[in-house]
Amino acid sequence: MTNSSNGRDESRHENRKPVIAISDMTKVYTMGEHEVRALDGVSLEIHEGDFVSVMGPSGSGKSTLMNMLGALDQPTGGTYLLDGTDVSHMSDDELADTRNQKIGFVFQNFNLLSRTPALQQVELPLIYSGKGERRQRAEAALEQVGLGDRIHHKPSELSGGQQQRVAIARALVNEPAIILADEPTGNLDSKSGTEVMQLFQKLNSEQGITVIFVTHDPWIARHTRRVITLADGKIVRDELIDEPLVAGESKRPSDTALH
Ligand code: ADP
Ligand code: MG
Repeated sequence: MTNSSNGRDESRHENRKPVIAISDMTKVYTMGEHEVRALDGVSLEIHEGDFVSVMGPSGSGKSTLMNMLGALDQPTGGTYLLDGTDVSHMSDDELADTRNQKIGFVFQNFNLLSRTPALQQVELPLIYSGKGERRQRAEAALEQVGLGDRIHHKPSELSGGQQQRVAIARALVNEPAIILADEPTGNLDSKSGTEVMQLFQKLNSEQGITVIFVTHDPWIARHTRRVITLADGKIVRDELIDEPLVAGESKRPSDTALH
């Protein structure tokens, strides 16, 4: 028994188990006579505590991949093991339970209910999962994203960045192992985008939550530890980032050039 808990980073990495393992996954959409291979044989392992970005041109299959990873939809072919469990054969009810327990979703357009205060938005997933102490849990999640003083505000009374943080609190409240985010900074100005990245980095490093998100922005992607690039439904690049940027500590090259 040697170096169990304070082994070097590399050895810990080797020991981490895959939370996501997909193999030769395809997704074909049929539109009349027309077929679109949105995913065309994607194999991928993502480990516990990873922090991954997914890039690629519009139409390359990024959202489809996120929907599959989130078990929001079933693939046409291939296998998906989520935390070791085969998702491809689950019933709709089992899928819904699995999603609720393991995964938090964040979307580009926040997907908040327009007339509902933040606190109630964040309580919703707890109603579905049947957990108690809803008010305390929802408040704690809002505190975590820095909105402890905005819990009664409705979306229209919040900035875009704050609305996205409500959405992140809602994603967090069931204590998921994985957060999936589809272009979470896509509708935000760069300052709010940086705040969202700071939050994701904190959730990843302090709570070990596996974070996977889609971005169009190579500079945002440099804040993660692994960048997966899709084209035409295939993974065309999968690279590790040696020294990810720390959100808020470095300026975008174009910003630096201007100042
Ligand atoms: P991205 O998120 O990278 O822009 P998508 O995953 O949304 O790409 O789409 C990949 C391809 O699949 C595109 O050609 C898109 O038109 C098609 N597609 C996506 N969703 C559907 C759907 N529900 N029905 C039919 N075609 C779809
Ligand atoms: Mg998309």
